[in-house]
Amino acid sequence: MLRKFKKSEKGFTLIELITVIVIIGILAAVAVPKFISLTGQAKAAQCKANQAALESAAAMAYATAAASGTPAYPAALSDLSSYMTSGYTATCTDGTTALTYSSTTGAVSCSNHSR
Ligand SMILES: [Zn+2]
Repeated sequence: MLRKFKKSEKGFTLIELITVIVIIGILAAVAVPKFISLTGQAKAAQCKANQAALESAAAMAYATAAASGTPAYPAALSDLSSYMTSGYTATCTDGTTALTYSSTTGAVSCSNHSR
């Protein structure tokens, strides 16, 4: 009777479960660092795109000023608000570093992400 009962049991052995858990652990150990690396790359790309967008806005402001006879870049990034969507901030995607702006060349740069 005991033999019949044992034969009808279905399930995994402890060795099978440990093997699966170890394989999942190895996959996670490979995937997590890759995911962190991709996040950093995405933030760097976004910061560089923001810099380019601000430079484009500065160029538009320069052209507008030139059309009215006084070609000059805006004195500060905050003067570009009419060329940007509302709520933009001239900060790096790390959330703290401010982007630097040159009112003589219109160049925008980040100390963390150079282009
Ligand atoms: Zn940056």
